[in-house]
Parts: sequence; structure tokens; C-alpha cells
Amino acid sequence: MTDGSMNGIRQVYLNGAFLPPAEARVSAFDRGFVFGDGVYEVIPVFGGRLFRLPHHLTRLGNSLREIRMTNPLPADEWRRVFERLVEIQGGGELSIYLQVTRGVAPRDHAFPPNITPTVFAYAQPLKYSPPEELAQGVAAVTAADIRWQRCDIKAIALLANALLRQQAIDQGAAEAILVRDGVVTEGAASNIFVVKSGRLVTAPKGPFILPGITRDLVVEIARANSIACDELPVKIEMLRSADEVWLTSSTKEILPITRIDGQPVGSGKPGPMHARMFALYKEYKQAFIQGKAD
Ligand code: PLP
Repeated sequence: MTDGSMNGIRQVYLNGAFLPPAEARVSAFDRGFVFGDGVYEVIPVFGGRLFRLPHHLTRLGNSLREIRMTNPLPADEWRRVFERLVEIQGGGELSIYLQVTRGVAPRDHAFPPNITPTVFAYAQPLKYSPPEELAQGVAAVTAADIRWQRCDIKAIALLANALLRQQAIDQGAAEAILVRDGVVTEGAASNIFVVKSGRLVTAPKGPFILPGITRDLVVEIARANSIACDELPVKIEMLRSADEVWLTSSTKEILPITRIDGQPVGSGKPGPMHARMFALYKEYKQAFIQGKAD
């Protein structure tokens, strides 16, 4: 695939300029390329509006702080860049990808002094999950969580996540559910919710999960609607005996997992709690599109 035919991306933002994708060039000595030394975000755009932007910018700020980088742009500048990218794509349903790397320097593990970060962003059409995945749910497999101990940082170094997702695909599944010391952490690129006896349970925040923006929204919606929701360690036994299991992410939204390691989850069909939560989520999203929620 050539740069120019990348997913309908009309222009990208690179270090202050808006360019056609084929004209965006980064040095081979960029620390993002050489070390995976950078962080990223993915922000959904619904009805041309940036969904939960302040939450994504807060998480970006946290990721940058944890890798000891200064945020290269203030929040209003980030917003301007994203809004321009949305405009260039013609609005609608998009996802923004952005990444910040430490920048270009001779290869040395230690941080070089006075380095300029590389800032890259683009908007592309949002690919929703096919309707049959929502109607029937998807399959997942469990896998040992082989990642590092700072999964709270949204790092661009995603080799372990890519290996785990591919492991799932190779077994005919859509996602890998990661297990560390007998406890479910999250998916290769999603957070995991379990439903048991009418209660939602999801992993607590900490170094072993990415604090998903969709995860937080689901917890918020549950609390606002008197749906019991615990942020507690999910033991593998709880996953295996769950009535329902969901994965959440900005682009997959809330997707039922109906088979795990070849066994049905609960009835083997998306459950009533998913139907309720997804309806509440869609209601929130609709209000957001109409400017009635942020
Ligand atoms: N966990 C991991 C490892 C992820 O990569 C992602 C998103 O890609 C998520 C969780 C979900 O986060 P969000 O809801 O902010 O998209």
C-alpha cells in the first residue's frame, strides 16, 4: 500500500504542517522509529465532534509526563489541529490518531538534551464493528499478559499487543483477553467487563491496564443509572463463570464476547445487560452529537 492510498486519509498533520500523506516524512533516526520512544492517542469523532476530547488530552498528558516529556501543544492548540483534520476529512464519523515521539537524535538510549518532539496526527473514516458482531458477539481467547509493568502509559511500542492480537486471530478469535497471575487485566487493545448476577466488574486502574476512556464512560453510565459496577480484580474463574463478557474501546465501543477459548459465555449470545448498557451508551452518544453532552 502506498502512503497516498492510506485509508482515505486526505491530509496529515506533521510538526506544524498539513500535508498529503505521501509527503509526510520523518527521519529514520526518530526515536519513535528506533526505540518506540513515544506515546499516542485515538479519539473518536461522532457527528463531526471530538468525543470525550478533554479525557483523551488528560490521558495524553499523563502518558507524556510518565515518559518524562513536555506536552508539545497546549489543549486549545491540539483541539485546533484535530478540528482542522476533521474539516479536511469532511466531518462525520472518524477516528483521530495522534502520536508524539521524543524526536530525532543519534542512537543512544539516554535522552538527548534539547531534542524537538515529532508530532504526527491524522483523521480517518471510522470503521464500526460489522452489525453481525454486535448481534452475535465475537470470540476471544485467553493469553498470558506478556507486556511490561507500565500498561497505563499509552506507549507506541505495541509489539506485545500486536503479538497477542495476532495470536487471537490465528485461533479464529477477535481479541486476546490477557491474564496476569490468574487475574484478567484487559484485552490486547481493549478493556474487559464481566457481568455476574446483575453486577458489572472491571479491572481497577493501575499499572497493569490502560485507563480506557470507553471503560470510564461505561462505569460513569452504570453509576448514573444505578447499575452495580465494581472496579475489582477479575479472577480467571470469574471470567469463566461470567453471565456476560464485553470488550470496550473507542473504535469498537461496547462489544459482547460470546465465546472464550471455544466455550460459550453464559447463554452464548449477547446478554440483556449488554443490550441495556449499549442503549444507554447510544443515547449518550446521540446527546453528544446534538451538543447536549460533552
Ligand atoms: N486497553 C488497551 C491496551 C488499548 O490499546 C485500548 C485502546 O486501544 C483500550 C484499552 C481501550 O481504550 P479506549 O477506550 O480509550 O479506546
